[in-house]
Amino acid sequence: KAHAYPVKKHGINPKYISEAAVMVTRTLTEAGFEAYIVGGAVRDLMQGLQPKDFDVATNARPEQVVKLFRRARIIGRRFRIVHVPHKRDLIEVTTFRSADTSDQEVDEHGRVLRDNVYGTLVDDAVRRDLSVNALYYDVKHQTVLDYHGGVNDLQDQTLRIIGDPVTRFREDPVRMLRILRFMAKLNFTVDAHTEDAMEECKPLLGNIPQARLFDETLKFFTTGHADASLNALQDYDFTQYLMPVLHDVVQAEKGAEWVHRVLEQTDARVNEDKSISPGFLFAALMWPKIEQRWQFYQKQGSPSIVALDQAITEVMNQNSDQVTITKRFVADMREIWSLQPRLERRLPRQVKGLVEHPRFRAAYDFLLLRAQLGHLSETGLGLAQWWDDFYFAQPEERAEIITILR
Ligand code: ATP
Ligand code: MG
Repeated sequence: KAHAYPVKKHGINPKYISEAAVMVTRTLTEAGFEAYIVGGAVRDLMQGLQPKDFDVATNARPEQVVKLFRRARIIGRRFRIVHVPHKRDLIEVTTFRSADTSDQEVDEHGRVLRDNVYGTLVDDAVRRDLSVNALYYDVKHQTVLDYHGGVNDLQDQTLRIIGDPVTRFREDPVRMLRILRFMAKLNFTVDAHTEDAMEECKPLLGNIPQARLFDETLKFFTTGHADASLNALQDYDFTQYLMPVLHDVVQAEKGAEWVHRVLEQTDARVNEDKSISPGFLFAALMWPKIEQRWQFYQKQGSPSIVALDQAITEVMNQNSDQVTITKRFVADMREIWSLQPRLERRLPRQVKGLVEHPRFRAAYDFLLLRAQLGHLSETGLGLAQWWDDFYFAQPEERAEIITILR
């Protein structure tokens, strides 16, 4: 049975609701369908946070939704949804899912492979992951519908799985990662049953397609709560399931310190609305491992640049079966790393070519990061400054800046 909470209780100010979400729900209801804002947006609005995106749930089928909006498209196979672009926003519209899980296609571990059987609003609420993510906002009447005690849990700052936690984690182990991410983002605690089940179900994450884990990893580390997310992952011992190489790195105290400082910087950038390049971020997260192997091969007698190549090849091969970092990012990472000894060396006949390298800016930023975090000798900051001077110099000034090197 639902509670319908009025404004007095939920406190959502309509002016923080995106115009696109209002337009989409209105169009659907005027066409005779039910439509609500749901999920993270309602949760965040009630917390006084500006939602980063708005999701809409409706009883209209994807084919019916698409007909109502000019630029709408159906996406996804495992879970079909409709993307409705409006001006610069994008609203995700999902059709209420059936609560009868026997209709779903599952694998041998009980993981849901396909979930495109539709149901009612009540069914849909049961299928959501957490009580605080199962709140439905009715734009027209300004009420919040709550079937699973989400409003109370929000008040108590508690993350609680809807239904039996073990069953829900079997259906989709990624829910455990989502919980850790929300702990970091909202600073909430996990209800005891949910927590026990997480401990028990952790190993199920080994069965998740790498691409999906990688998507989650990106959400952990690029949405402004990266440092707190790593703390949550470490506290609950999940790093090895998300990213084994990161697990390795943070085992060592120096590695953990490096990663935390990288993530603090990443959060600072996100909070200043600057963009995050995943290639750069992953290059930084894996760097202590690369650096360690680089030194190892140098001790074995390889020249610096060769040793670095050996280290990169080794680390990337070791992890290729564990972390699928999208190919495009891998190419960026390799270039950022490979440029490091070249930037350190500053061979006069190479420097001009290096600043013209398409990845120069990223490699330079990486050098600066190493210098700032004390991973270069004390000349590191001077080195970074030199590159900065050279990069911004007029062509005729560059020759003189090079002469300092002779
Ligand atoms: P945020 O956007 O801040 O990361 P969110 O809660 O909006 O958080 P989304 O991934 O945008 O997360 O999902 C929207 C809603 O869809 C969730 O609030 C939840 O109700 C539902 N949902 C998403 N992923 C799952 C899942 N794996 N299992 C069950 N429900 C889910
Ligand atoms: Mg969302």
